Amino acid sequence: MSVRTHSLMRKASRFAARHTLQRWLPLRRQRAVISFSFDDVALSACTTGAALLQEYQARATFFVCGGLENQLEQGQLCHHGAQLQQLHSDGHEIACHTYSHLNCELQPLSVLQADWDRNRQYLAELGIPASGFAFPFGAYDLGSKHAAAQRFSYSRITGGGMQQGRADLHALRAQALYAGKTTDEEISHLIAEAAAQGAWLIFYSHEVSDQPGPWGTTPAQLRFALQTARDAGCELLNIRDAIQAYQAFSA
Ligand SMILES: [Zn+2]
Repeated sequence: MSVRTHSLMRKASRFAARHTLQRWLPLRRQRAVISFSFDDVALSACTTGAALLQEYQARATFFVCGGLENQLEQGQLCHHGAQLQQLHSDGHEIACHTYSHLNCELQPLSVLQADWDRNRQYLAELGIPASGFAFPFGAYDLGSKHAAAQRFSYSRITGGGMQQGRADLHALRAQALYAGKTTDEEISHLIAEAAAQGAWLIFYSHEVSDQPGPWGTTPAQLRFALQTARDAGCELLNIRDAIQAYQAFSA
């Protein structure tokens, strides 16, 4: 098969996956919600990131790969177990990002299931329940979306956009917060749009450092996003708490 055909098939598979197996959550609250999430998870997200969130009385979602504990990922030192326990007890959400940072797209389901089990076991040993999930690299297909839907209370993807009017709990859209890519104007525009529409906007990033790599944010950028969200009157909730708030409103 040619590279082009393969690429087209992957695009078709992703399109099919996004537009099927949806589980809609109605977003009937008027006030916009902004969520912050960190993938992998870098040590600096657990320390600098969490502290900044807490300064704004906000809590984040941390999508953890157990296999990255004390490891370097993209040159960034990652979390250790005691920090995750602290974040959990401080009210942050700890969720799953696979154990081995797997690309779930086209992955044999048996491999995926075993890896998810391993991550659940890792978090269970820390005494942390985790029901949410984010696809590493934002990569998923129909099979992995279906398998994740059966196991997790929600799945987060990437690729930008926000949830307006309703949210597909099996493919929550999220917007990158990368210091080298996301401009302040973009952040302001997205938050203003979320506030105007009463939408739910989810940011994701990795490390929180004054010198981040291409997939990280700076403390200044994170603070700018938090302050802008607060000034716009948005509510700051992690993904788990946002879902609970929307569900309570719809019940
Ligand atoms: Zn990741």
